[in-house]
Amino acid sequence: MKNFFLFLLGIVIMFNPVKASAAQKFPILIYHSIAEYAGTGLKELYVTPENFEKQMIYLKEHGFTLLTFEKWEEAKKVKKPIFITFDDGYKNNLNAFAVFQKLQSRVFKPTATIFVIPEFIGRPNRLTKADIKQMTNSGLISIQSHTASHPNLTKTDNLQYELKDSKEKIQELTNKKVIALAYPYGNTNSRVINETKKYYLFGLTTTPGPFTLTGIKDELFMLPRTYIKYSTTIEQFAKIVEVE
Ligand SMILES: [Zn+2]
Repeated sequence: MKNFFLFLLGIVIMFNPVKASAAQKFPILIYHSIAEYAGTGLKELYVTPENFEKQMIYLKEHGFTLLTFEKWEEAKKVKKPIFITFDDGYKNNLNAFAVFQKLQSRVFKPTATIFVIPEFIGRPNRLTKADIKQMTNSGLISIQSHTASHPNLTKTDNLQYELKDSKEKIQELTNKKVIALAYPYGNTNSRVINETKKYYLFGLTTTPGPFTLTGIKDELFMLPRTYIKYSTTIEQFAKIVEVE
């Protein structure tokens, strides 16, 4: 009887269409500006709208599922999960939104997360409140926190303002839950992580590489992200996203 049970279990494992390993390693990409480089700031923090569109078409044509952090658990179930993120809330992220609107179809729903800085909302070349509302209402963009004023969190004393107040301000604006924090400059430490855990479910660094679920303590508060740069070719992009 016991052997028969083991035999059945073996059959179930063998024919389970969801591979256990498929869900536990996936890329989280980081972008800043989606615009032509106009000569100010670091060129590598820009990706042209044309290249961004090519990259998203690659994901569409190669069967990726673009997720936001509210759907974290789905990464275990869907085919080729990937997270697209943008830091700093630049106005030109509307170019990425336009690409998403253009590429969305019955079977492909491009989604991404924009990490905004409440103190910077509405400043020149940053997203306005109206932009943010329009994007969240589309269901394609999730707005999450990049702190209240973009300090190096490991060197600031005012963590309550940076973490809790920023979360509340964004929630007021979007009427949606804020559950993820991108640490400015990717900087964090155990003090920052312990405070972040009080208000968030996820903390994102800028340590490159795909995310691999290992079960180590606080791994969801040290999520790695890989930069997509101005100079990233579509071949390099394919290598970054094809992690299996
Ligand atoms: Zn930043």
